Amino acid sequence: MPAMHTSALVLFSGGQDSTTCLAHALSRYERVETLAFDYGQRHKVELDARLNVLTALKARFPAWAAKLGEDHLLDAGILGQISETSLTRDTAIEMESSGLPNTFVPGRNLLFLTLAAALAYRRGLQVIVTGVCETDFSGYPDCRDDTMKAMQIALSLGMDRKLLIETPLMWIDKAQTWQLAHELGQKADLAQGGQALVDLIVEHTHTCYLGDRSQRQDWGYGCGQCPACQLRAAGFARFQKA
Ligand code: ZN
Repeated sequence: MPAMHTSALVLFSGGQDSTTCLAHALSRYERVETLAFDYGQRHKVELDARLNVLTALKARFPAWAAKLGEDHLLDAGILGQISETSLTRDTAIEMESSGLPNTFVPGRNLLFLTLAAALAYRRGLQVIVTGVCETDFSGYPDCRDDTMKAMQIALSLGMDRKLLIETPLMWIDKAQTWQLAHELGQKADLAQGGQALVDLIVEHTHTCYLGDRSQRQDWGYGCGQCPACQLRAAGFARFQKA
């Protein structure tokens, strides 16, 4: 990474992946801002989780608190007008004939990256960090590595400013994402930072598609049944065994 990159905007939803990405950015850059989108998510619990994560991160890692700048929440409610999915409407999660789960909102991530780039431009931030991942079960086409590279070029050209899209989770699985969090926490605080960051992610991040925070599992809160919970639970179990 060239030294000229000193600031980043993290797409931060309050889940395990984006919280790990935030820790990655805080360990690497001088100034870090966060961004989330409100698009009629069924569960306000996600938006609450991200604020709780930010508060907990600042309290536990003072060096990171000093780098954390503004938190942004942009209205992307327009997505609710053009897509009918289980994330924006009250329908069941299932696989569609395309092979994609009906949590897929066509083009959502392209829109998010465009809005993020516009905000990064205005805020003078050089890097966009996002937790997209190709090893995930979902296989969303707007989260693939080629898509990210194409977006990086399109946005850099279209805004006439060199913009870097960084994807620290692209080629790792959920167990390795837990492991990465442990390493980043340890880097920040050699004493107990590794376990502290893992504990923080377990306690405060939210992943469950059903918005369930009534059931506490060893890997965090969630129904334990939906695809997101199953992925998180399986990854945590492999991480614990390693
Ligand atoms: Zn769940």
